Amino acid sequence: MTTPAASPQGRLQLQYLHDALEDLKSKHLYFHLKILEGEQKPICVFDGKEVINLSSNNYLGLTTHPKLRRAAIDATRKYGVGSGAVRTIAGTMKMHMDLEEQIARFKKAEACVVFQSGFTANSGTVSAILGKDDLIVSDELNHASIIDGCRLSKATIKVFKHKDMSDCERVLQETTNWAGKKLLITDGVFSMDGDIANLPALCELAERYNCIMMVDDAHASGVLGNRGRGTIDHFNCHGRVDIQVGTLSKAIGSIGGYICGSRDLIEFLYQRGRPFLFSTSHPPSVTATCQAAFELLDSEAGDRLVKKLWSNTKFFKRKLRKLGFDTGKSESPITPIMVGDAAKAFEFSRELFAEGVFAGALGFPTVPEGKARLRTIITATHRRADLERALETIGRVGKKLEII
Ligand code: PMP
Repeated sequence: MTTPAASPQGRLQLQYLHDALEDLKSKHLYFHLKILEGEQKPICVFDGKEVINLSSNNYLGLTTHPKLRRAAIDATRKYGVGSGAVRTIAGTMKMHMDLEEQIARFKKAEACVVFQSGFTANSGTVSAILGKDDLIVSDELNHASIIDGCRLSKATIKVFKHKDMSDCERVLQETTNWAGKKLLITDGVFSMDGDIANLPALCELAERYNCIMMVDDAHASGVLGNRGRGTIDHFNCHGRVDIQVGTLSKAIGSIGGYICGSRDLIEFLYQRGRPFLFSTSHPPSVTATCQAAFELLDSEAGDRLVKKLWSNTKFFKRKLRKLGFDTGKSESPITPIMVGDAAKAFEFSRELFAEGVFAGALGFPTVPEGKARLRTIITATHRRADLERALETIGRVGKKLEII
C-alpha cells in the first residue's frame, strides 16, 4: 500500500479509493483514457498519433456530417445553447416534441419519449414501469443500463443463458404462476459480441407466458432493418414488442436515448420516468442534430449509408477470417477478434496502436475470463483503402504475437 499525498484539506477519508486504484493497476485492469484530438472520424488523432479508428460507435459517420453540423449551428443561433429546465417544468421546447413524433414515425410506433442518454432511457424506464412484486427475465449479456434499471425497480431478476431460448423458457416455466407483472428483456445487438437476439423466438415466449417484451436496440438502430429501423424491422416483429429502446449517441451521431411504444407507455414515462422528471432536457443543438439525422436516415442517402456500412462490414469480416482470425459469433458491424488471454489481447491492442490501428482490448470483467478480445467496429465512412491497411497491420501483428 502506498501513501497518497494528503488532499488540500489534509484529510485521508478517501484513502480507500487510492488503494482500490493501486489494486487495479497491480492487476493490469486500470485503463488510461485515450484523448481524441479533432473530430471523431475513421482516421483521427488519439494521444498525438494518427490512427485508423476501429473503436467508435459512429456507424454512419454522422458525428461530422455537414447537414447535422449545420442543423446544430442554426439551432444554436436561433434558440441558444440550453433548454433551461427539466422537461416537466419549463424545459420542453417544440422541437423536443417534434423529434419524438419523428422518431415514433420512423420506428412505426405510436409514440416516443426522448431521454438524456440511452443509459437513462433503459434504467429510467425499467425502474418506472416495474416494482418489487414484479419479475424481470433478462439475457445474461444485457447492457449495464438494463441491469441497473432492473436493480432500481426492486423486482425479482432472473437471468437466462445468453441467447439460449430453452433456458429462457425454463425460467418462464418455473415462474409461470408469478402474481406480478413479467418483463422479458434483451439487447437487439449485443455490444461485446456483435450477435443478434433471436427476437421472433423471444416474442413468441413473451406472448406464450404473458410478458411485457422490451428490446434495447442501441446498436441496431441505424444499422439493421430498412434504413436502420432496428431489429424489430429486421425480423418483421412490428406490433410484438411493447418497448423499443434506441440511442441517439451511436449511429445517430449525437447524444441521447429514446423509448418507443404505446401512447400510454410514453404518457406514463412523462409522469414517472425519473431521468425525464429530474434532469434537464437536451439543448437545441442536440435536438436539431437528431432531427436532421432521422431525416437523413429515412432518405435515399440514409439507405446508401446503411448499405455501405454493411458492405464494409462484410468485406472486413471476410478478410479477417481469411487471415485466420476467430471473429466469434458476430453478425453485425461489431466484430470481436478473439484472443483468449487478457494480457495478450492488451499487448495486441498496444502494438496495433503503435502501428496506427486503434482497436481496443476487452478483458475480464467486461467479458468472461479466458475470452479476452479486441473489439472492432466498422463504419460506413471507412474507405476500402483504410480497411485494407488495417487488415494488413492486424494480420502482421497477429502473426508476430502468434494469435494466428
Ligand atoms: N444499450 C447498449 C446495448 C449500449 O451499448 C449502450 C452504450 N454503451 C447503451 C445502451 C447506452 O447508450 P448511451 O451511450 O446513449 O447512454
